[in-house]
Formats: sequence, structure tokens, C-alpha cells
Amino acid sequence: MRPFKYTPAIDAKGAVKALAGNQHSKFLAGGTNLIDLMKEDVERPNELIDISRLKLTQVKQITSGPDTGGLYIGALGKNSDTANHPLIRQHYPLLSQAILAGASAQIRNMASNGGNLLQRTRCPYFYDVAMPCNKREPGTGCAAMEGINRMHAIFGWSEKCIAVYPSDMSVALAAYEAKITVQSISGQERSIPFAEFHRLPGETPEKDNNLEHGELITAITLPKNNFATHSYYLKVRDRASYAFALISVGAALEIKDSMIMSVAHKPWRAYEAEKLLKGRIPTEANFREAADVEMKNAKPLEHNKFKVELGSRGIVRALQMASGTNKA
Ligand code: SF4
Repeated sequence: MRPFKYTPAIDAKGAVKALAGNQHSKFLAGGTNLIDLMKEDVERPNELIDISRLKLTQVKQITSGPDTGGLYIGALGKNSDTANHPLIRQHYPLLSQAILAGASAQIRNMASNGGNLLQRTRCPYFYDVAMPCNKREPGTGCAAMEGINRMHAIFGWSEKCIAVYPSDMSVALAAYEAKITVQSISGQERSIPFAEFHRLPGETPEKDNNLEHGELITAITLPKNNFATHSYYLKVRDRASYAFALISVGAALEIKDSMIMSVAHKPWRAYEAEKLLKGRIPTEANFREAADVEMKNAKPLEHNKFKVELGSRGIVRALQMASGTNKA
């Protein structure tokens, strides 16, 4: 690991100011991804601004303003605390399920909510500094394109990068149409709809999201919803724990449906399937038709063609579980 300066922050404004003053600095919260990347020489910040002691850990119901009835989640709350919070378990069970499907208990005890959204791809070529990777080093190429791309994207990829985005938590946040509150360099707060927070790779795969350098995530806002009784998070992976998803589906239904799939560079909203299911009764035949409509636009690579069928079956299964129409 390369040497770096350590700067503890005492408040959000000070943290933003410190980061904005050094283009090569990074925020440190739980450090569960960043420190690994620094050890592998993938990330090379010369300064870490420690934000882990900022008082941004609360979970509370919103009682005034445009989000009344929704939920405020502090960005520096731990993933375990968020998943197990009574308000989240009761009103946003999909979020609880998705967080608990990710990583190990030890990592969830360290990882922050904001950090979860900022975790980087687990593409093995991204971690191997001897290999070309446009996300790690723009302009060097994409080793996965002609390499082993079994784990990679079937939606939303570009010629520059075919990586998938690994956060389970984000699939649920996309389904709930969360908003991300950010403290900007100007001292103002801004709110980013979740669908606009992450980026597809396009020509700039090195940019995972639309944060500016110096901006700090302070909170996640969840709108009031009617999905609490009919939601299900399905994660299919090579082994039962400590593995990233081959495909994952977050299904949330309110008689009429909203559904998300994570088989892409960012959480992939299944708009076509949602449209088709609206007004239909929850039967396996309808779920299969919706899955087929959604998956017809998939663009599999050499080693991940299996994800198309897996994704299709995953959608049907998640919808059956969410609607309570599963037979098994
Ligand atoms: Fe790098 Fe993306 Fe290619 Fe992986 S898929 S090697 S992260 S450019």
C-alpha cells in the first residue's frame, strides 16, 4: 500500500472542504472496499478524509416537507443496523432482504450505507493491475471483452466496459425510487433521484456515478410506499454466501407492479416488464410473458449467455415469491 495522509473530519462541511481541496483524496467510512483496493494498488489516494465519526447514522420517519411519510436513512449508518432497523423491516422489507443478501455479517457491521452505493465493480481484471482496464486506467482497453466474461453484464454495457455493478442494496433502493442527498462543495444540499445516481459505462467507464469530487452523500430518502407486503429479493450466485450475484431481482408489487433487475452496469429497472404487468393478475403465465419482454433486449457475451435464461427464470421466481403465488 502506498503512503497517504490521514485527516479525521469533525463535520460534513469540513469533510467536503478537505476533500475538495485535494483532487487525489478520498472519503473513508467503513473502508470495506476502498482499503482492499488500496492494498491491490487499484486506488491510490494520497489522503483519506475519515468521515466515520460524523453524526449521520439516524433512521427516522419524515414528518414534514415533500417526503412526509417516507424514511430518512443516514449515510453513515452501518449496513447491519439499517437492515435490522424495525422501521425498515416493517415498511421496506425488500431493502432489508437485499442488504442481508450481501457480503458477510462482519463486512455489513463495518460497511456504511453511503459507501455501499459507491462500491466498485468486482470485475477481476479491474483488480489485476497487470491487465488493461478502461475503468481503472482509461484508454488501456478492456481485458474482459475477450477474456473470461461469465460474470459480466448483459444489459447496458459499452465497447469500453462490460462490468456489472455489485451492490445488492442498490437494487432495492432503485425499486423504491430512493433519493440520495448530497452535501455539495458550495455548502448547499442537492437531491439526486436514484435512477440518475449511477452511470452506464458509455465512453467514460471510470465514472461510476454522477457525484462531483468533493460531494458527500449525507442521506438516503425512501418515499412512502405500498409494497411492504409483496416484495422479494432474489439473488442467484455460484455459492450460498460470500459471493456476488450472477443475477439478482428485486420485485415489489402493489397489485400492480414495480420490478427491478440487477444484471447490468447499474441497477436495471425492468420498465417493459412493469408496463406489461400493470392491470394483470399475478399468474405464472403473465410473469413469464413479462420476463420474456424484458430479456429480449439482453446482449450476452461469449461466456454469459446463460444469464438470459437465468434472468428470465429469476424474474418469474421473484414475482411469484413477492405475490405469494409460488408453489414450491
Ligand atoms: Fe475493466 Fe470494465 Fe473491462 Fe472489467 S469490464 S476489465 S472493469 S473495463
